[in-house]
Amino acid sequence: MHVRMTTSRSGFDVTPLPADRVTALATDFSPDERQVILHQGTERTFCGLLLDNKQPGVYVCRLCGLPLFKSDAKFESGTGWPSFFQAFDPDHVAELTDMSHGMMRVEIRCKRCDAHLGHVVQRRSAAHPQALLPELGLDAVRGRRSAAGAA
Ligand SMILES: [Zn+2]
Repeated sequence: MHVRMTTSRSGFDVTPLPADRVTALATDFSPDERQVILHQGTERTFCGLLLDNKQPGVYVCRLCGLPLFKSDAKFESGTGWPSFFQAFDPDHVAELTDMSHGMMRVEIRCKRCDAHLGHVVQRRSAAHPQALLPELGLDAVRGRRSAAGAA
C-alpha cells in the first residue's frame, strides 16, 4: 500500500484513509448510521436531519471531517434531502457508477475515507441541472467551528 500524500485543490489532505482508521472513526456510529455511511444504505429514519438547516457554514464528512459542501451551494430541490449544486472542492467528492436497485445512478463518496454520501440527481431546473444529494454522511459545521475542530 502506498502512502503518498494527496492534496486537494483547496489544500486539504485527501490521502485515502486505511480501513482500520475508518473503523476506528465509526465506533460511535449507530447501526443505522453504519449501514448508510459504510455500506451505502439509503437514509430513511434520519430523513430531514439537515434539510431545514439554514445556518451558514460548511458541511463536513461525518466520518473524517473533510469539508464537502458549503451552505451557499445548498438549495431546495424538493427531493426531501439536503441538496447542493456543487461540492466544496471537486477533489473531495468521488463519483461512482451505482447499478444497484435496477437503476443506474451516480453515487457520491468522500474521497478521503470512502464514506457513502448520497447520489447525484439530474434536475429539471435550468439553474441547477445537477444536484448532489448527501443522505446521512454529513455533519453541519456552523459559525466558528472549523472543520478540523469538528469532533
Ligand atoms: Zn470522509
